[in-house]
Amino acid sequence: MDQRTYVMVKPDAVARGLIAQIIQRFEDTGLVIERLELGMVTRDQAAANYAEHEGKPFYEGLIDYITSGPVVKMVLRGPESVMVVRKLMGATNPRDAAPGTIRGDYGLVLDANVVHGSDSPESAKREIAIFFGE
Ligand code: UDP
Ligand code: MG
Repeated sequence: MDQRTYVMVKPDAVARGLIAQIIQRFEDTGLVIERLELGMVTRDQAAANYAEHEGKPFYEGLIDYITSGPVVKMVLRGPESVMVVRKLMGATNPRDAAPGTIRGDYGLVLDANVVHGSDSPESAKREIAIFFGE
């Protein structure tokens, strides 16, 4: 059964001109784009999206970074889309991410790791509401 997930092309990847390549990776697997928008993330949206990390040493930097420039916000749909997207993205630290994954192929540093994807169906529902208000 189809599932929805929230995916974001992060500011570093947008600035580097990687939007098309990254979206292509998701479409290549058969995931369907349901919503797609280029725009800024507000500080409120960033704080809500990353609430689980509040208080951690990297939190302030993470909020500054994700609000620093335009991102591509997407809702992707497909069977097990949450798990499929996480697998396509690769490990959080691009240096640990396998070649062939998006972070492995396009990233080098942990704090600018190219792409975001919800980590569970519950997170997906919450994050879609934060960014698309539904
Ligand atoms: N992050 C960071 N430093 C860390 C851990 C995480 O800058 O030590 C950033 C990184 O951009 C990551 C985001 O915070 O994507 C959220 O961290 P999480 O552990 O939830 O990783 P993800 O779910 O994105 O793989
Ligand atoms: Mg996470």
